[in-house]
Amino acid sequence: MTERERERERDGVVESCDVAVIGGGPAGSTAAALLARRGHRVIALEKARHPRFHIGESLLPMNLPVFERLGVLEKVRALGVYKPGADFEADNERGYNTYAFARALGDSPPHAYQVWRQDFDKMLYDHARESGAEAREGHEVVRVEQRHARETRLDVRTDDGREYAVQARYVVDASGRDAFLACRRKLRRKNAEHQSAAIFGHFRGAQARPGEDAGNISIYSFAHGWMWMIPLPGGVMSVGAVCRPDYLKQRKGRTVDFLLETLEGNPALWRRLRQAELIDGEVRVTGNYSYDSSRMGGPGWVLVGDAFAFLDPVFSSGVYLAMSGAERAAEVVDQALREPRREAALLRRLEKRQRTGMARFAFFIYRFNGPVMQWMFRHPRNTWQLEQGVISMLAGDLFDTPRVLWRLRLFKLVYALSGLRDWRRWRTEHRYRLAQARIRFTGGTTPLDQE
Ligand SMILES: Cc1cc2nc3c(=O)[nH]c(=O)nc-3n(C[C@H](O)[C@H](O)[C@H](O)COP(=O)(O)OP(=O)(O)OC[C@H]3O[C@@H](n4cnc5c(N)ncnc54)[C@H](O)[C@@H]3O)c2cc1C
Repeated sequence: MTERERERERDGVVESCDVAVIGGGPAGSTAAALLARRGHRVIALEKARHPRFHIGESLLPMNLPVFERLGVLEKVRALGVYKPGADFEADNERGYNTYAFARALGDSPPHAYQVWRQDFDKMLYDHARESGAEAREGHEVVRVEQRHARETRLDVRTDDGREYAVQARYVVDASGRDAFLACRRKLRRKNAEHQSAAIFGHFRGAQARPGEDAGNISIYSFAHGWMWMIPLPGGVMSVGAVCRPDYLKQRKGRTVDFLLETLEGNPALWRRLRQAELIDGEVRVTGNYSYDSSRMGGPGWVLVGDAFAFLDPVFSSGVYLAMSGAERAAEVVDQALREPRREAALLRRLEKRQRTGMARFAFFIYRFNGPVMQWMFRHPRNTWQLEQGVISMLAGDLFDTPRVLWRLRLFKLVYALSGLRDWRRWRTEHRYRLAQARIRFTGGTTPLDQE
């Protein structure tokens, strides 16, 4: 022990706890509340002060059972806009198809909510505190040192300039995209298959969908990616575009003009937005955020939510994956503290489950902007209940329901066959065009013309 550490201990500034949770977003609050309820001494450390801005406003139906188990369902209901489904552009008279959650195959709830994240995250952090966690705000973890499997020291700096240390038997890292532990342990990996960035703002006066579709999230495509419209409380519409990072790098001039020009790129979205006003002229940009970590945990530590991995917001899966993953991670931590010899196996199972769920979303995400997937979303068919299987995926029901899982496998097969059909059509057209070019050059006829 160094002289400085001895001094600190004498001053009583090294605090001991069973579990330290880094980050007070949805994942951190969930883990902190559940572990405190199981009788552990939990110190939760959040560097910002709630309410603080965060993007990620549209929730999934499968989040509702997690809220219920946590005991916050009524509070979410009071904060949120009722979300009955997701709509995607289509070549029909009204211009879109609604994928209504009520039509999902399994037992997922028939709706979800859309929330201002600053209110939602504050409510969850307060709830963790009410559940017994010492939930601190304005306390940033600046250094970590693991001395033994059950002894990790975190150095903390408060926003009023104080410093102290926490010694924990277990560390749950829920630091979001900062990925505090994954960066220090050099586990963070950029996603080579998928890169995206986003630009977004909040508008007043945008046109909602009519009737019972009013609370839908609407998804649109454009040349460089896709866009969202999310109805929020108080008549506000969150609107943003997700695109390849290179596209955002092209921007010159005012960011607000770039956002508006980008949104004009989809005429149907723009028609709903052209009368609207950007609130406070405020536009935000996020850089490339698709990554994961090579491991999810080890003796005495575990990564949850975005601190482990994040893919893409297109199906609004982030908060659900963060909270459901944190709920399971809390069970693992609780059991590992009681029966350390089971820890490795429990962590392996947790990681496998989380990666499997994410891979199921990834199949759709990676292909979403391609012509085949676009065509399938524009022209849904419910043969073999495939459309309903997709609705279940959109509801977040892609871990445990066999009926859904085998529809998703079948969907992959149909996707592959459609891709093959499109490829053959493309090849035929391409051969025809090449042959025609050759005729113009040589003055002959093509084999296809002769057929
Ligand atoms: C453009 C975009 C749109 C999105 N849209 C959606 C959507 O519609 N629906 C959806 O479900 N998800 C969406 N997401 C994803 C969603 O934002 C995240 O998946 C979700 O917030 C993850 O929760 P979390 O608790 O893991 O992390 P976060 O919510 O990011 O919380 C992490 C917390 O840790 C704190 N922290 C960081 N470092 C430290 C430190 N060293 N010490 C103390 N505290 C620290 C941060 O201040 C923060 O409060 C979107 C993401 C993006 C980029």
